[in-house]
Amino acid sequence: MRENGKDYYEILGVPRNATKEEIKRAYRRLALQYHPDRNKSPDAEEKFKEISEAYAVLIDDEKRKLYDMYGRAGVSQSYSTEDLFKSTWVDFDELFRDLGFGGFESVFERFFGFGRRKPQPEPTVVEAEIGLDEVFQGGVKEVPITFQTTCQRCNGTGGEPGHVDKCEACGGTGRKVERVQTGFMYFTSVTTCSKCRGYGTVVRKACTTCRGSGAVNQTEKVVVNIPAGISDGESLVIRGKGLFDKSAGARGDLVVHVRVRTGRMFRMDRDKLVMYLPVAPSEVVTQRELTVPFFGENLRIKLRRDLLDRPLILKGKGPPVYGGGRKDLEIKVVIDLPENIDREQFKRYAELLSSESAQMDQMRKRLFSQQP
Ligand SMILES: [Zn+2]
Ligand SMILES: [Zn+2]
Repeated sequence: MRENGKDYYEILGVPRNATKEEIKRAYRRLALQYHPDRNKSPDAEEKFKEISEAYAVLIDDEKRKLYDMYGRAGVSQSYSTEDLFKSTWVDFDELFRDLGFGGFESVFERFFGFGRRKPQPEPTVVEAEIGLDEVFQGGVKEVPITFQTTCQRCNGTGGEPGHVDKCEACGGTGRKVERVQTGFMYFTSVTTCSKCRGYGTVVRKACTTCRGSGAVNQTEKVVVNIPAGISDGESLVIRGKGLFDKSAGARGDLVVHVRVRTGRMFRMDRDKLVMYLPVAPSEVVTQRELTVPFFGENLRIKLRRDLLDRPLILKGKGPPVYGGGRKDLEIKVVIDLPENIDREQFKRYAELLSSESAQMDQMRKRLFSQQP
């Protein structure tokens, strides 16, 4: 993907809040104008690629979100050029046939040099835990991935340097050639050398680094950008940073499955963040105004009795959302007590009990009698 260049919205000539219909209409018009079959000017092909790339990103919700937040770098971290067009494949196919250019594959094989799928390397899936602060502010996480690699000390032989001999039984070939006689016939049989098991070498002392296996575990830390607004259970794809896939001859993608750690005080919902706010009865009775630290800001909450029955909803005070805006914050007040109550406090609670117990008994009785 070309890193630098004009803004995708500018390329298609649509406003930043353009609807899918508007984006589609703009692309159709430009595709008709710049398709190299119709437009023979030398820069038509480049222009055609540019508008197609812009369209592939803006027509797809996920990619558009990434682009709005991080620009082209954000998109290219997650998608190769080919992947960029893949999810919009059907859309392009329909569009091109409609415009009379032939299907997607024929067009893109010509201009982008791809079309039919090659065997894709297997992705490596890992899990990463993040905190709520990273949901609010975004962050960078190093994800360790571990794979086997040839031991440098013994070069994969498994033997301590200077303690590896050529196998005498097979002369270092790893194979044993025998002339076998059956009846009147002789033939030659080739078998794996049993002394060296085909390696051609005999290890007198095992390599101290790999303990004779010839391979060691190597850990690579892959840097993953966590975008603000990520939700629990979402996955981030880092192209080509997974484990090496032998059958495809390349490294697969690293898929980072994100888990958001919330602790006791919070719960993350799809469209809101729920906060369980512990308060003492005395704080509710006196309508205390609390200052609660909350991810870089302070929330001012005046306690009222009705908050015991229904949550306080602070619109747009929750975690950020891709592409702008914030979710809601729902505060549920939970009656709790100070963690350590000293003798003096206990005495005051006991006094309170003598005046409140009769009132509470009455209230429970009344509520009970109201049962249907
Ligand atoms: Zn070794
Ligand atoms: Zn041998």
